[in-house]
Amino acid sequence: MNKTFEHVADTINPLRRKLLKYSLLGGALAAPGVNLMAKPLATTANIVIVGVGAAGTAMANRLRQQLAGNKITLVGARQQHLYQPGYTMIASGLWRADSVVTTTKEWLPKGVDWVEQDISGIAPDAQQVLLADGSKLAYDILVIATGCQLNFHLIEGMDEQLIGQNGVGCVYAGQDGALKTSQAIDAFAAKGEGKGIFTLTHTFLKCAGAPIKMTFTSLSRLENTGRRQHFDISFTTPFENRLFTVPVYNEFVLKRFAEQDVAVKFQHKLTGIDAAKRQAYFTDLSGTVRREDYDFIHVVPPMSAPDAIRQSGLVWTEGPFANDWLEVDQYTMQHRRYANIFGIGDVVGTPLGKTAASVKMQAPVVEQNILSYLSGAELTAQYNGYTSCPLITAIGKAVLAEFGYGNKLLPSFGFIDPTEESWAVWVMKEKMLQPAYYAVLKGQV
Ligand SMILES: Cc1cc2nc3c(=O)[nH]c(=O)nc-3n(C[C@H](O)[C@H](O)[C@H](O)COP(=O)(O)OP(=O)(O)OC[C@H]3O[C@@H](n4cnc5c(N)ncnc54)[C@H](O)[C@@H]3O)c2cc1C
Repeated sequence: MNKTFEHVADTINPLRRKLLKYSLLGGALAAPGVNLMAKPLATTANIVIVGVGAAGTAMANRLRQQLAGNKITLVGARQQHLYQPGYTMIASGLWRADSVVTTTKEWLPKGVDWVEQDISGIAPDAQQVLLADGSKLAYDILVIATGCQLNFHLIEGMDEQLIGQNGVGCVYAGQDGALKTSQAIDAFAAKGEGKGIFTLTHTFLKCAGAPIKMTFTSLSRLENTGRRQHFDISFTTPFENRLFTVPVYNEFVLKRFAEQDVAVKFQHKLTGIDAAKRQAYFTDLSGTVRREDYDFIHVVPPMSAPDAIRQSGLVWTEGPFANDWLEVDQYTMQHRRYANIFGIGDVVGTPLGKTAASVKMQAPVVEQNILSYLSGAELTAQYNGYTSCPLITAIGKAVLAEFGYGNKLLPSFGFIDPTEESWAVWVMKEKMLQPAYYAVLKGQV
């Protein structure tokens, strides 16, 4: 533990008490005002939940508590449960790779069947999911919680296997990819000079702050070498004047990048990479391709719903989420064409909501609306777009970004300024978010 972290640890107790008073990370983890039933609802509805990540596990726990007499089946092959918000800490050289790994099994409630395979498709008219082994599983109600798919293949020459070699990093590629990313940054820093390129993808993405956090923590590591001025650092974004959706945080990051001598390049998309030569290809709006040499590059892959969902006929057919994301009502989380299908988590096509903190707020909404649907009542619970992430601005500092639809700021804590960086928010990220996340999985908050 270095000096900064000792200091942080010494001061954590008063902060922890205050946070607990505000219900374990406040709005990020406090329940919205929906009325959950005092007694479990008796039903024979056969409920299938697809995806054993944060959202699927939370829904299995919540629905098992709220319903009696029915079958709930969780479907997904993944044996490890991965705490993805920890990837940033691993890729920044602060956590061990195994600190984010638990088993899927330990989070599952009694009374829920687990089918340990992925789905290959959904037949919504037949009310069946198609399993990888070719069999079919019928449902009355389906909850889709399959998260995001990382589409590295859409960047020519890019392959997940390249991460950690020839200066290629990516915080999104699992705990091992995050560790290799950290090692690649160490190697870059050890060179004492060179060119580092950080990128952003053009698609919707989970934890949209992660590419920015990786830039800031890498800057801290380069500063620690005492040779920061010998490193040429840039951030390339496909958007015009935008690195982050919410204007106040966008302005903050742009200002900090200017102060920290990070050159920002707008309206350029990473479309190709030649890792062996350490060359990246960026395409601008006119289709012109520009080549850049690098010593280190942080690649952010385009993302979409998994192919099994994209090919199910359940994704949006028009608008910004077309062909890629599940078509749900952004407030009720109910599918817009199939009333017995709900979506939750990273897979949904809603303007905001691809964080674990969003799952925390979506889960009671989906739960309440499923109960209403089963009772033949109107769906009244609404998700407000709540999205949150501690936007790390240096190793040891962060801003607590909390916002909802319309980019409205939704701060949870009176004692934390949502636009100021502080060590307190860093402590939240480092020490408190992981146990709070596990409480969400258990359906406890
Ligand atoms: C680098 C990084 C940093 C992050 N930082 C933060 C943060 O600071 N704060 C925050 O709140 N959130 C953060 N997040 C986001 C958070 O981890 C996700 O929003 C959250 O995990 C979403 O939960 P999910 O269940 O939708 O998806 P996941 O947890 O990814 O789970 C999806 C599940 O679906 C399964 N699946 C996929 N395809 C199929 C299929 N065909 N059949 C069956 N199952 C399938 C997968 O195997 C997986 O088990 C971060 C994420 C990353 C990657």
